[in-house]
Amino acid sequence: MLPEFELLMPRTLAEALEMLAERAPDGMPIAGGTNVIPDLRGGRYRPACLVNVAGLPELGGIRQEDGILVIGGGVTVAEVLDDPLVARYAPVLREAARTLASPLVRNRATVAGNLANASPAADMAPPLLVLDAEVELASREGTRRVPLKDFFLGVRRTVRQPHELITAIRIPLPPAHSRARFFKVALRKANAIAVVNSAVRVDWEYGLGSREYGLGGREYGWGGGLCRAARIALGAVAPTPIRAWEAERALEGQSLMPEVIAQAARLAAEATRTIDDIRGSAAYRRHVTEVLVRRALEGLWSRE
Ligand SMILES: Cc1cc2nc3c(=O)[nH]c(=O)nc-3n(C[C@H](O)[C@H](O)[C@H](O)COP(=O)(O)OP(=O)(O)OC[C@H]3O[C@@H](n4cnc5c(N)ncnc54)[C@H](O)[C@@H]3O)c2cc1C
Repeated sequence: MLPEFELLMPRTLAEALEMLAERAPDGMPIAGGTNVIPDLRGGRYRPACLVNVAGLPELGGIRQEDGILVIGGGVTVAEVLDDPLVARYAPVLREAARTLASPLVRNRATVAGNLANASPAADMAPPLLVLDAEVELASREGTRRVPLKDFFLGVRRTVRQPHELITAIRIPLPPAHSRARFFKVALRKANAIAVVNSAVRVDWEYGLGSREYGLGGREYGWGGGLCRAARIALGAVAPTPIRAWEAERALEGQSLMPEVIAQAARLAAEATRTIDDIRGSAAYRRHVTEVLVRRALEGLWSRE
């Protein structure tokens, strides 16, 4: 059963921020409610008051401004899936959005809610980490931006203060010669939390070379290109979504030959701090991490 709470319905962002400031720490935002409502039913928390931020006009929309893709703090996962700017500049986010829950949940669930909820398995986190996203936080006092890599503090803990709202997620447009992929293993194909999820991104030193090379009958990349910068982000393998820094270093300045990919995948598995739980053992998660990172790197040039 749902506990009793007061529900506040602001009409503007300013009203919402005022309400949160007055009620903090006993008030909490609710957007799609796809985490909040099950958590209230399950007794995870009992806020005296919920401030409904769904549909606030200032939090809507996805736009491009000054080299940044801006995803409003109220944008749903379904909207991300349909958006042409996301398809063009952040297809890895789209790839992850497609694996989150089911169409029904995606119609309500917001990207900001996924990040603010701070589950270690949040599917929006790895793609946004490899895209160097920033979280824009607003309060009655003003606005600040936090790189997503510094946003998560622990399981369901972030740097967001109770009176702050995520008003936008800001993604610098990746360079032209950048490719990224997202892979997820879960116990089912839909409506399933990740056992492990992973996003990888490689920015190439040169334009696409004209010569494809195949090794062991498989294609791993394009000739003439060196990895200038790499990002590897992992979910459900530590208390927060993480970057695998050592694995990234192992790719930089290299052609993505099979042995380079294998070494990076091993280092990514070593970066994990996995636990046993109902979805998988720690050892299985480590193994899956290595396989997912390898597949993602090998799959950089295949279609999402
Ligand atoms: C059946 C089911 C399947 C699911 N499957 C997946 C899955 O596969 N992958 C996955 O990652 N998640 C999954 N989820 C979890 C959930 O759908 C996502 O985390 C979703 O993105 C949360 O967004 P929301 O808008 O519903 O957040 P809410 O439930 O409204 O809020 C979640 C948290 O974020 C805070 N919050 C919301 N909006 C803001 C804001 N603008 N600023 C600051 N704080 C805010 C709330 O206070 C709360 O702490 C699933 C949930 C269900 C019910």
